[in-house]
Amino acid sequence: MKKILVTGGAGFLGSHLCEKLLAKGHEVICLDNYFTGSKRNIVHLMGNPYFEAIRHDICEPIDLEVDQIYNLACPASPVHYQYDPIKTVNTSVVGAVNMLELASRTGAKILQASTSEVYGDPQVHPQPENYWGNVNPIGIRSCYDEGKRCAETLFFDYHRQNKVKIKVVRIFNTYGPRMMPDDGRVISNFIMQALHNKDITIYGSGTQTRSFCYCDDMIDGFIKMMESDDSITGPINLGNPHEFTIRQLAEMLVELCGSHSHIIHEAAVQDDPQQRQPVISKAKELLNWEPSIQLREGLEKTIAYFKHTNTK
Ligand code: NAD
Ligand code: UDP
Repeated sequence: MKKILVTGGAGFLGSHLCEKLLAKGHEVICLDNYFTGSKRNIVHLMGNPYFEAIRHDICEPIDLEVDQIYNLACPASPVHYQYDPIKTVNTSVVGAVNMLELASRTGAKILQASTSEVYGDPQVHPQPENYWGNVNPIGIRSCYDEGKRCAETLFFDYHRQNKVKIKVVRIFNTYGPRMMPDDGRVISNFIMQALHNKDITIYGSGTQTRSFCYCDDMIDGFIKMMESDDSITGPINLGNPHEFTIRQLAEMLVELCGSHSHIIHEAAVQDDPQQRQPVISKAKELLNWEPSIQLREGLEKTIAYFKHTNTK
């Protein structure tokens, strides 16, 4: 049994991770400031004697005894990370320093939830890990993109300078139950709109692409990465390589929800990446990982969750 810290543990991915780690027999400390997460996501874990939730902001240092740290704390949807961009940069950068200092002191392995956003609006397609990206350093997405890029820099500098055991995964768009219905991300927006027979709002032409991974597959990838040999530092892409246009996604959701919604177009958002698809050969080779749940199946499970939370 290991003692494992999950920052951002009350969020969408964090709560699934806490659940999976407890099921594997570990002791889990969830640390969260509840900015975008919710106690509702972890309330079912509260009675477990091996689970502990602490309200804490990772921009402040904390001292705990742990064997592993999963650093997930950071708002993830454009609406949320652009709400207070200075705080977003601080969470990624100061938060990473605090968690890396903790790892340095305790000797814990630490995994960073990085992102495909480090590739910006990519000029190489699909994106392998050795592509350095095309990021606007001063745009409205920069607080997130550059914050995450700087966090990666800190991870590798702590690894080289302080011998911290690091694991960096670059997460591509992930969806599933416990996404917040109002977080502005495309899957939650489209499902909510389709279920209420409201217009489905495509920003721009709808020809931009994303590759969507179901949350259970992603959590398996996190754990495989953490349990891999210490020599495997990453960065490693984790995501589902099946690529869809946003229009295809809208049409699929209208069909799966049995909706009467119309698909409409609104203004494109600034610096919106036009294409995104992970190369996952590293994850396949080094972690023996690849996603098993395809978009239609994952969307059905997600729609069922949204229907259930809707009726509450
Ligand atoms: P989320 O918003 O549901 O979860 C983030 C959690 O971090 C929330 O519970 C929030 O309250 C907490 N948090 C935010 N700032 C904090 C702070 N300063 N101190 C403590 N807690 C704080 O988002 P998610 O989709 O679960 O994302 C989890 C991680 O994965 C994030 O780091 C995100 O950048 C990364 N990621 C997610 C995706 C995706 O598609 N879901 C893609 C790429 C990267
Ligand atoms: N998008 C959209 N309508 C929405 C929400 C998002 O067309 O209601 C588009 C958005 O412009 C982007 C894609 O869907 O091209 C994915 O957006 P999301 O915010 O989910 O993730 P990210 O841009 O961070 O990948």
